[in-house]
Amino acid sequence: MAERRKFKKRYCKYCEAKVEFIDYKDLAMFKFSLSERFKIMPRRLTGNCKKHQEMVTVAIKRARQTALIPYIVDRKNVVENPFEFIK
Ligand SMILES: [Zn+2]
Repeated sequence: MAERRKFKKRYCKYCEAKVEFIDYKDLAMFKFSLSERFKIMPRRLTGNCKKHQEMVTVAIKRARQTALIPYIVDRKNVVENPFEFIK
């Protein structure tokens, strides 16, 4: 269960931050829900509530269409911290 240990507490980070709406242009918001390969993290790992997970999913898909984040990451291009370029 090494993978589980990464996410100790299970709570919705968006509820904690009192986020009402997740904008697809606000890339910092996806931080909690994107893996290092820009995949959407499942709810069972992030602990997001259903409401926010759906919002995040829609927002991430929109961000992909507008080329703000990549659909796929090449094996060579996997970086340590994918959020370095987001800021
Ligand atoms: Zn929530």
